[in-house]
Parts: sequence; structure tokens; C-alpha cells
Amino acid sequence: GGGGGGSDENEVVAGTAPGFPPFEMKQDGELVGFDIDLLEAVIDETEYTLASWKEFEFKSLIPALTNDNIDVVAAGMTINDERDQTIDFTDPYYSSNQAIVVRAEGDFSPGSLSDLSGHAIGAQKGTTGESVVQEQLIDGGSLDESNYNSYGNYVLAVEDLQNGNIDAVVIDQPVAETFAAQRPVTIAFTYETGENFGFGVREEDDEFTQALNSGLAAVQDGSTYQDLTNKWFGQ
Ligand code: GLN
Repeated sequence: GGGGGGSDENEVVAGTAPGFPPFEMKQDGELVGFDIDLLEAVIDETEYTLASWKEFEFKSLIPALTNDNIDVVAAGMTINDERDQTIDFTDPYYSSNQAIVVRAEGDFSPGSLSDLSGHAIGAQKGTTGESVVQEQLIDGGSLDESNYNSYGNYVLAVEDLQNGNIDAVVIDQPVAETFAAQRPVTIAFTYETGENFGFGVREEDDEFTQALNSGLAAVQDGSTYQDLTNKWFGQ
């Protein structure tokens, strides 16, 4: 572990960004979710102890990690090359594609990214969903920059979709499914990105990273991983 926050050398502090159900969210004021349970189970398998959780906006998690404010990120964070230049990741623990979410009762039902052109689209700042909008739509000239709305968290984006302020939200598929089960929104189509989520760690914390990888393997080999999947994804 690092120096971040814990008084004991083996105490670590974890960071997350609630508003990304069922991975992390607030329930009756409490931080809960698949990532929360999974990281706690993984750390239980190691010599480290979890001192506390800290909450951030998603886009602030990597700076918080590199500033030693936290020691590990558990936030449905996709392992990708851009992030890999600044931080390291554990082995992957979940796979996802992107989903395009629209109002369930609306008359806008896009079937592909090109159908989004000319519409107001939302995503969360600093995410791979935002990258899809940027790289596939804005850079390609099919969406004007002014049609893109970025939000500090996905709950605000989906609320703006419900309110009719925007027409679609680009978001990780399991999270889209959770919103669709709880709110009057639906998945119009999915866009395959083949993402893998990992816990984010500092590049220099090799020992801690290896401990997390061993812990993750133990949790996946036993019944815990499946139990947590059943608990949070209901399958
Ligand atoms: N998986 C996406 C990413 O890594 C979104 C994560 C999130 O919003 N918590 O960018």
C-alpha cells in the first residue's frame, strides 16, 4: 500500500465515485455496491486492511490516486492505454460494453451511433462513454460539440434525460440496465467496446498490486465472486 491516509503501513484508503449503480451508489446515505463489496472481499484476502472509503467525482479519482490521497480506485474503471500511462490496474474483474439510453416513453429510438447526430447527448466527465461521443461522433463531424452535455455523475445525466433536457445518454451497459430497471428509461442499442474494469493502483505500488491480484483470484476461485454477482446483478 502507499502512504495515502492510513496511519499503519498496511492500511489502505479506497476511492470511488457513487452514482454508478450497481457498482457504487448511496443507499440511505450509505456507500454500497458491487465494487464496494468486491474490493473489501479482495483486501480481506491480503495482509492489508481497508481504513476507509473516500468519495470523488469520477474524473478526480486518478489525480486523487497519484496525489496519495487514496491508495486504490474501485469505480467500474475501464483499463485502457490512456490511463495506463499514469496509473496501473489490477487484473480485470468485470467486462462491459457501452449502451445508449433514451426515454422509455419517448419517440426517439436510435438504432446506431449515426442516428444520434443532431441530438443532445450526455455522458459523465472523464469516462469511456464520453470518449465514444468524442471520438465516434464529434471528431467524425456527425455531432456538434454544443450538442454534447457532460455531467459530474451519471445520475445527473439520466435525470436530465428524464426531464427532456437531453435525448440520449452513453453509459456502461450494466449501469444502463440498472437505470432502466429503476427509472422510465430504456436501452436503445448497445455499442461494443469490449471494456474490462480493473482496480486502479499507483505504478510504484507493485507489492500492493500483486496482493490485490492474488486476493482477486482467491475471491474468484471461491464462491464469493459469484455470490456478489448474484447479489448485485441478480443472476
Ligand atoms: N467504465 C467507464 C470508464 O471507466 C465508466 C466508469 C464510471 O463512470 N464510474 O470510464
